[in-house]
Amino acid sequence: MQFRDVIGQENVKRLLRQRFNEGRMPHAMMLSGATGAGGFPLALALAQYMACSHRTEEDSCGQCPTCKKMAKIAHPDLHFCMPLIRNRESDDPATVEADMLDALRAQVADTPYFSESEWYARLGDSAKQGSISAAASRRIVEALWLKSFEIPYKFMILWLPERMHLAAANRLLKIVEEPPEGTYFILLSVRPHEVLPTIASRVQQTLLPHLEQPTIARALEDRGLAQGQVALEVAQACQGDFTEAQRIAEEGGESPFLNLMQALYRGAIANRYPDLMDWVETVAKLGREPQKEMLAYFARMVREMYMFNLGQGDLCFSIGQEREFAQKVSPYVHGRNVGWLLDEYSTTLYQIARNGNPSIIFTDMAIRHARMILLKIKV
Ligand SMILES: [Zn+2]
Repeated sequence: MQFRDVIGQENVKRLLRQRFNEGRMPHAMMLSGATGAGGFPLALALAQYMACSHRTEEDSCGQCPTCKKMAKIAHPDLHFCMPLIRNRESDDPATVEADMLDALRAQVADTPYFSESEWYARLGDSAKQGSISAAASRRIVEALWLKSFEIPYKFMILWLPERMHLAAANRLLKIVEEPPEGTYFILLSVRPHEVLPTIASRVQQTLLPHLEQPTIARALEDRGLAQGQVALEVAQACQGDFTEAQRIAEEGGESPFLNLMQALYRGAIANRYPDLMDWVETVAKLGREPQKEMLAYFARMVREMYMFNLGQGDLCFSIGQEREFAQKVSPYVHGRNVGWLLDEYSTTLYQIARNGNPSIIFTDMAIRHARMILLKIKV
């Protein structure tokens, strides 16, 4: 991956090149931002830039043997640590590592802009949440204490440090603080506030801003994912996140959770308990990761509904069927219940993330919806 393959983020690219060329590259850094802001491709481009012996001021050469191996994720000094799903058949560290690299190569060949749930789907189970275990930390430490093979550097790209167990983090503290000569940790976080403070305090943090709409529209066109007006609409709907832009362009505008939100709101507006209980039954079976994504989606859509209720449709991001739905339901989402709805989704998300019983949690949520949605008042 070269810098020129990374969408936008020109200021961050400039900063990284400058730090390296002035000999100020920190041995441990963390880039934070939505997956679609491009942390992962930036980390790949940075490692390749530093490793390439024919680099220019602007970019790696893309042609030398080092660049080619880096691009294929097959360089012996380029290491990765990604959250994995537990209880996989094999615990043999070499097999775990090889499987992870296979999955990662397939993912990057497909697109280096991917969400956490896309990663778990690639590992074979999108319903589970992965983690970085103490065993993974042990692999990191072992890999980094070996001498580098082909270049004077070793890179450890660690995706989602917020998924790291405490025991894993403790094992890493010393090596992150004083890495072996020529070793660079590049951490990529989506929720930096959830990274353990012992880790966060040892890395230099850089924030990745959301991408601008014209930049996303151009990238969609360049990649043949959407053209013209459609590219502009997708760029508007994805809220600065290229991972989301790809999904919208490929699957059409509607989130897979739109149907579930429509069913919940229809049941609540009609005050039909049997329908709400059917809804609970469907949702309880989804698995925790999709349930969490669904709740985040509901919160985003409620914001859209409230904007329509206030007559501020031009501030809404949604397009197509989502926009129609948000507009239709907007009389039911107003100043008296919008705060309650948003709190409800974040509390429910918290309970699900802490392994509460989904049937009980979603039953409570559905019943409370019927009560709150019926406060039909136009503000
Ligand atoms: Zn090169």
